[in-house]
Amino acid sequence: MKINRTLTKRHLLFVTAAVLLYASFFTLSYIFNQHRLEENEITDVARLMPTKVKRVTSGEEEQTFVDLVKEANEQDIKLSVAGKRHSQGGHTYYRDGIVLDMNSYNKILKVDPENKTIHVQSGATWDDIQKAVNPYGLAVKVMQSQNIFTIGGSLSVNVHGRDIRHGSLIETVNWFRLLKPDGEIIKVSRTENSEYFPLVIGGYGLFGVILDVELQLTEDELYEIRTTKLNYDEYESFFAEKVKGDENVKMHLARITTAPDKFLTEMYITDYVDASSNESLEDYNELKGDEGTWITKPMLGLSRDFDWGKTLLWNLQKKYFSNQDGELVTRNNVMRSESAFLEYENGKDSDVLQEYFVPVNEFDEYIDDLRAFLKDEELNLINITIRYVEKNEDAVLSYSKDDMFAFVLLLNHGLSEEDVAKAEKTIQGMIDITLQHDGSYYLPYYSYPTKSQMTTAYPKTEEFFKMKRLLDPEERFMNEFYEEYGR
Ligand SMILES: Cc1cc2nc3c(=O)[nH]c(=O)nc-3n(C[C@H](O)[C@H](O)[C@H](O)COP(=O)(O)OP(=O)(O)OC[C@H]3O[C@@H](n4cnc5c(N)ncnc54)[C@H](O)[C@@H]3O)c2cc1C
Repeated sequence: MKINRTLTKRHLLFVTAAVLLYASFFTLSYIFNQHRLEENEITDVARLMPTKVKRVTSGEEEQTFVDLVKEANEQDIKLSVAGKRHSQGGHTYYRDGIVLDMNSYNKILKVDPENKTIHVQSGATWDDIQKAVNPYGLAVKVMQSQNIFTIGGSLSVNVHGRDIRHGSLIETVNWFRLLKPDGEIIKVSRTENSEYFPLVIGGYGLFGVILDVELQLTEDELYEIRTTKLNYDEYESFFAEKVKGDENVKMHLARITTAPDKFLTEMYITDYVDASSNESLEDYNELKGDEGTWITKPMLGLSRDFDWGKTLLWNLQKKYFSNQDGELVTRNNVMRSESAFLEYENGKDSDVLQEYFVPVNEFDEYIDDLRAFLKDEELNLINITIRYVEKNEDAVLSYSKDDMFAFVLLLNHGLSEEDVAKAEKTIQGMIDITLQHDGSYYLPYYSYPTKSQMTTAYPKTEEFFKMKRLLDPEERFMNEFYEEYGR
């Protein structure tokens, strides 16, 4: 078939024309379909749950947040905490409540190169941290692939990323200071006020405001990119031998196609192999920014709107990533993946995320079951990336009960009630399959899952919400996620 051929000039011309044409439609559609929020209405980046709040307050000083908690207690107002609002299920707001916007509370307080730690305020982003530590030859141990998120938001969902030698973010947190619902500020670590540690990390802002955090760092390193194309049934053994089994492989990301002709069969893998001894880090450690948005954004748009667009994007991605084979990249730059191309705004539909965790040894059977199920569903699945996350049950709401593959699904659905209900049914079906394979799902996304799916995926759900009510008896900290699953 055509799609397996190397790209020719004619293909490139066609692609460029298609991209330009699509970009024009995209811009017009953006202008005509934009959803405008009403006064005091707030929503998360995916725009799934516009909600009226009393107000949004930000602050650069700790005292602002202390005063707000006092005011909320005196006047019985609910509080929510927000970072960049990339969570998608109303985790950062509650109807008629006050939202504490942490984004301007973002100072880097101290970099300690000797002990390899950083102390930061919770509104700082990973980008802020990378800029602060890169000059010392240091890097973050665990974070998302993109660096746009706040530290408070990342701790509160207990994120994970491409590093295969460290598990979830909780592993790398030394301590943090917490502004509790009663207005007291405490230091929390594995030994001090330790009951808060596994609740607040992965606690979705329900136990108070994380003010500042000390995180462990590691050496920035130079990696050689190694790419491999394979069929899904080869992946499990490839991962065991060539990735986990090779101590030089430090980071890993896999992709499996959603293009109709090879749906959930063809994969390609990007591994980051230690190359520190071959070349000097300083020659490569300039921090990179978003470079290819002009092409990646319309390409993603084509695959959102057309099946042939999915095939085209998959083939171009394969080509692009295999061209990277042998390139050298620093650890910090691996964790500065492009993000602007993911920004999508249209009043009629939205790009939403799902993430499912499945034990490593279930991979083949899981993919077979998912493929069979999705064959009869009308789900617009744009792409899937796969990460590895090591078993870690430190957080009460831990998603990695085992060594897991994490499937990140980007999909698009309409915003009408009917469209959301349709997507919800399919997503609940995918979650059922995930649970049948002893898996779990990630909690920062929209409330498609049922309560019973949550308790199956998270056996300590009851304990978590019981502790919430014990440590915050007035339910001062509220969000729509807690309203849906915890009350
Ligand atoms: C494009 C994209 C890629 C992603 N990739 C990954 C990935 O690779 N790995 C991964 O694990 N996740 C990933 N995610 C999920 C992402 O990590 C979470 O949604 C994360 O919470 C986003 O950070 P934020 O600053 O937007 O947090 P927000 O959405 O603003 O907040 C998230 C939660 O944290 C709470 N919170 C925020 N700040 C504080 C604070 N200071 N004190 C107490 N509570 C607080 C909020 O109340 C809320 O419950 C991705 C999401 C997107 C949209």
